[in-house]
Formats: sequence, structure tokens, C-alpha cells
Amino acid sequence: MRATKAVIHLQNLRDNISAIRAELAPGTKMCVAVKADAYGHGAVRCAQAAAEAGADALAVATPEEGIALREASITKPILMLSLCAPEEIPDVVHHNITPLVFDEEYIALFAAEAEKAERTPYPVHLALDTGMGRIGVLPEDAARMAKAIVSTKSLVLGGMGTHCAVSDSLAPENQEFTAWQFSRFMQAVNAVQQAGIQPGIRHFANSAVTLARPDMHLDMVRPGIIAYGYYPDDISASYLHSIARPAELRPVMTLETEVCAIRPFKKGQSVGYGRTWTAAADTDIAVLPIGYGDGFLRRFAAGGIQVAIHGKAYPVRGRICMDQCMVDIGKNSGIRRWDKAVIFGTKEDGALQSADDVARLSGTISYEITSCISPRVERVFTD
Ligand SMILES: *Cc1c(COP(=O)(O)O)cnc(C)c1O
Repeated sequence: MRATKAVIHLQNLRDNISAIRAELAPGTKMCVAVKADAYGHGAVRCAQAAAEAGADALAVATPEEGIALREASITKPILMLSLCAPEEIPDVVHHNITPLVFDEEYIALFAAEAEKAERTPYPVHLALDTGMGRIGVLPEDAARMAKAIVSTKSLVLGGMGTHCAVSDSLAPENQEFTAWQFSRFMQAVNAVQQAGIQPGIRHFANSAVTLARPDMHLDMVRPGIIAYGYYPDDISASYLHSIARPAELRPVMTLETEVCAIRPFKKGQSVGYGRTWTAAADTDIAVLPIGYGDGFLRRFAAGGIQVAIHGKAYPVRGRICMDQCMVDIGKNSGIRRWDKAVIFGTKEDGALQSADDVARLSGTISYEITSCISPRVERVFTD
């Protein structure tokens, strides 16, 4: 096996799910987002582990993602959070994947397929746009669209959901916006009920709301990033402590590799493309077989990323290449060829930083760091 790998600690995932479950009232359902290959962690194994630990449903973005779970014999409800193309709808219905819908044309396409496939009554969830500005019907049109769903006769309203735009921020204006989104959502639910239609499962909460706002859980929460062990932005471990809702999360992924060569460098010798770094003194450079083709992005070097070898941090020098990068280990480090180098992950694996730290130094979020680890990097699952 290649030295560069992503170790996936399924027990940490299960523990995170249990920690989330502990924050929910009994009876509240949990739909865990496993889209984008479980944020890069491996969707099938993570979905299985999440289900074992108490997830009631799973959320995907695309039909293929849902089908992969069905082909792995996962029978839990699967919610598809993004829209698919018309030609994908037969596969979606065949695999009993629940779409989010919000307009008549898309509703009619699903209704026609449900009838054709003899899968009536087929459940769909109504997506509301309460302020995210992505998919969803506006609250004032919710009742009309709910009627459009049930009047097809072949579809039923299985639930209603909306997505938050700024719930991971503690800025007062953002907290207010989230409260406004919640009230808009409840208006839509009430309007649907007043039209004589059962709203089904009402869901509002992403990770941030799941941890910080139990008053907004409703019937089901839809956490993603917290299952993989990262706190959503301002909703940090210390903030959660301060509101007496501590949730202990542990990173699930460790990204690691091995030193594949150690090269003595003389003062004045340069490293890599563009010759952006030159040795100021004699030093040793360790070459690692990981690069941006693995998701170890060029911009990490600009942010001053370091990697851990034997529990010590060493800086990446020069530009990160597609398949390799170079690390300054100085003279007499004691590091030997084939020693393990840890990019990010758990302390137990020898990491000195998490994907969150890498995100911060490169101006992004943990979501992007783990989901951009490319398919070339084998996921190695452990318990
Ligand atoms: C991705 C996604 C989630 C999960 O978001 P997290 O911030 O990872 O908890 C929930 N709902 C929808 C609609 C999403 O697209």
C-alpha cells in the first residue's frame, strides 16, 4: 500500500454520533450528512458506522451517492439534498431515495416516475428557502407547493426542511438572522397545516444548530461536520462549554505519509518550482510523497503549514508539487527514511494539528480540507 493514506477512525465517528445523540430530546431523529463521500471520509463505511451508532437517516447530494449506499445494503431513509437531472430520476425512485423538491416541474417529474415505477405513494420533502438563497420555495408559496405535491396523488409530503446561512456565527446580526429563518420556516409549516396538509418530518438544524440551539431541533436534525469531529466555526468546544452544552468531538480522519527520501542541502540551494525557498544554512530536506493531487493543496505552503514527524513540527518548504513536497528537518533531526509524517488528524496518531488548523492557516473551513482529499489517497478504516 501507498505510504500516503487517510486513516478513518470509525469508533471516533460512532462516539461523535453518540455525543450528538446525547444533545437530542428522545424521539428527535438524526439524519447524518454523508454527501461528498462523507466529507472525504468514505461514505459507505461512515454511513454504516453512523447507523450503528444511532443515525436514523442519511443525507447525500447526488443519486450516485445514494445508490452507493443502497448497493451496500443500507436500508435507512436517504435524503437527497441537491437537485438531480431529469434523466437520473428513474434511478432515484428505483433506489427509494427521498428528494427535496420545491417547484411544479420537478414535482411532476417525480410524480410521473413514481407512477411509472409503481412506487406510489412516494415521499418527497419540500425544501424552503428561508434565507440561504439556494434551493427552496419561499415560505409564502409553501402551502401552494405542498398542495401541488399531494394533488399529484402519487407523491406524499414526507417532510419539510430548510437550510441555515449563518448559524455557525455568534455575531448578533447572524444569530438574529438564524432566528428569523426559523420563524419563516415555522410560518411555512403553519401555512401547510392550515391548508389541511400534514407537514411530515420538520427539519431545520445543521451541525451548528444541533449543538447550540436545542430549541430549533424540531423532528429531525441534519448534522454533518460534527459527525467527523470538527466544530462549526464559532460554535467551538469552549463556546459550547460556556452555554453548558459541551459535546466532546474527536476528528475521524488522520492524513499521513512517510518520508521517502532525505537529502542534504547546502546553504544557497533552492527547493521546488519557482525557487521560492533557498536554504539559509546547510540543512536536511525530507521529501514526502504527497502533493496537491492528493488534496495537499499548494495554498497550504503559502500558509506556512508544518507536518509532524516523531511528535515534532517541521515546515514545508517551497511550493507543494502535484505528487510530492519537501520538508525542512534541519541537521541531526534523527529522522530516518520511511519514518511516518502526519499532516493532520488525531493526537493518538501523532498529529499536532487537525483539519481545522489546516483550514484556518489557508483561509477555509475543515469541510473543504477533508472533502478535497482526493480518491488517490486510500481510506484505511480502523475501529
Ligand atoms: C451539508 C448540509 C447539511 C450538513 O451541514 P453541516 O454544516 O455539515 O452540519 C445539512 N443540511 C443541508 C441541506 C446540507 O446541504
